Amino acid sequence: MDIRIGIGFDIHRLVDGRRLVLGGVELESSVGLEGHSDGDVILHAITDAILGAAGLGDIGEHFPDTDPEWKDADSAAFLLHAVKLADQWNLEVGNVDVNVLAERPKLGPAKKEIRRRVAELLGVDADRVNIKARTMEQLGPIGEGQAIGCQAVVLLAGP
Ligand code: MG
Repeated sequence: MDIRIGIGFDIHRLVDGRRLVLGGVELESSVGLEGHSDGDVILHAITDAILGAAGLGDIGEHFPDTDPEWKDADSAAFLLHAVKLADQWNLEVGNVDVNVLAERPKLGPAKKEIRRRVAELLGVDADRVNIKARTMEQLGPIGEGQAIGCQAVVLLAGP
């Protein structure tokens, strides 16, 4: 069996006047993530991890932030594209583990919904997806509430 692992990381600035979309789920918040697309750090980190595991480069190569096609794009499109590319190489998602780094908002209540949505996009059962949230103990730009970061690890399995 062909087993491959990939890592992804992303960070976006929190600003006024933007929607907050995390893991494909829109959350109630007075601030949102800045970005060329919808700024969804969770879906970006998972997309990068899938591309990494499949040996297919990174999200910026596939979806340049200079391309008007991706302006305010729903990041689900990035993730679905990465899953399709992996599938073309006969690689399917084994499991995904995610660390969301955020001082605000508290993700607790939304974690289940994010898990369900990410699993749906990946085409796997929810028990293949794990969403963890942690603060940065008020340290650095994430800890000061200026940004949200995300780390993701993905395992892809082939025949
Ligand atoms: Mg990003």
